[in-house]
Amino acid sequence: MLERTRFEREVAALVSEAPEYEIRVSQGQFGKALAGFAKIAYVSDAVIRLLRRSKTFASMVRTLDQKYLWIDSGLLPEGGWSIDWDADENGVLRKGPYQGRRVLSIVYSLGGSYFSPAGDSRTAAYDTIAIDRAPSQAPSLGKPVTLKENGEWIERIAHETAHAFRHVLGLRRAGKTAVERINGGIDDEIATRKVEGQVVGELRKQFPKFAPYQPTTGRLERWAVERDLVTVNLLRRTYLEHFVLNERLRAALAQLPAADAEKYEALVDRIDLGKRPLASYLTATPRFVDPRNNVVSTFMQAYPNLLLALRVLDARWRSVKDIDRRDLYRDADLEAMRIAHAAAYFDGITSYTNVP
Ligand SMILES: [Zn+2]
Repeated sequence: MLERTRFEREVAALVSEAPEYEIRVSQGQFGKALAGFAKIAYVSDAVIRLLRRSKTFASMVRTLDQKYLWIDSGLLPEGGWSIDWDADENGVLRKGPYQGRRVLSIVYSLGGSYFSPAGDSRTAAYDTIAIDRAPSQAPSLGKPVTLKENGEWIERIAHETAHAFRHVLGLRRAGKTAVERINGGIDDEIATRKVEGQVVGELRKQFPKFAPYQPTTGRLERWAVERDLVTVNLLRRTYLEHFVLNERLRAALAQLPAADAEKYEALVDRIDLGKRPLASYLTATPRFVDPRNNVVSTFMQAYPNLLLALRVLDARWRSVKDIDRRDLYRDADLEAMRIAHAAAYFDGITSYTNVP
């Protein structure tokens, strides 16, 4: 073995001096993936220590350790594991030493927290847990970590872990029809929020120092969840918009060769929405200025129209500057926006549950 350089020894000393990030929720694959995330996102050890002590969280980890292989574990074969180990369309390995497992990546996101399973988008071969930073995260290293920051990390991690847990057990979005799967998506969000609340509740009960934390878990009523805003891959929309558009995108994609899908994705990304009034896009086949020739055009295919719809929804929601000060459920303007979006893009599949 080569002798370590002085630099390497110094770095090693630094690492061992810092106890942070050595703490894991488990020694299994999920525990390692979460430790890797905690290190990148500067999540304090206190968060991991606390999570380990929640019965609900620990039992999810036991299952996830068995079901997953961490993508950065070094255990995957170098040349294309999805082919070598024959991952099926849902990301489950059908061959090799880890048959029956799924591959997991936990990433630090700057575009919202979400769980996205293999097969959910055209390119996803493995499950992704994306966790956005806690809103009150200390702006720089060395600043004291607050109770609020730790609590928010716990909520975010518990929440996305619960989505993954429900997914590997086949409890998410099951259903034969589009409407059943859309309702299943809302149900999954409700069930996941309950688990998040349970984890935080257990820890507040067990640890007097954590007891003062004020949970920020969202509402559990269907009508409220449908209207809540979610950010996925940097794009904002309501949960109902999210599930309906995903369902429609999947159906549209099935009609297209993969090469065409890729071309449409690149093209829609380049469209400058600002060249036409935002409200003018609120139709199933909106007119847009084609970035290739500056000519006003429309798409014939459903897939690019739906991709464009996702960008329009994001731009529309971001155009409401004072949204944090408004009552998300009772504000008449916001409700009018939802109705207009549904009329343009839902294709009559479903509609919002009435606010009681
Ligand atoms: Zn969720």
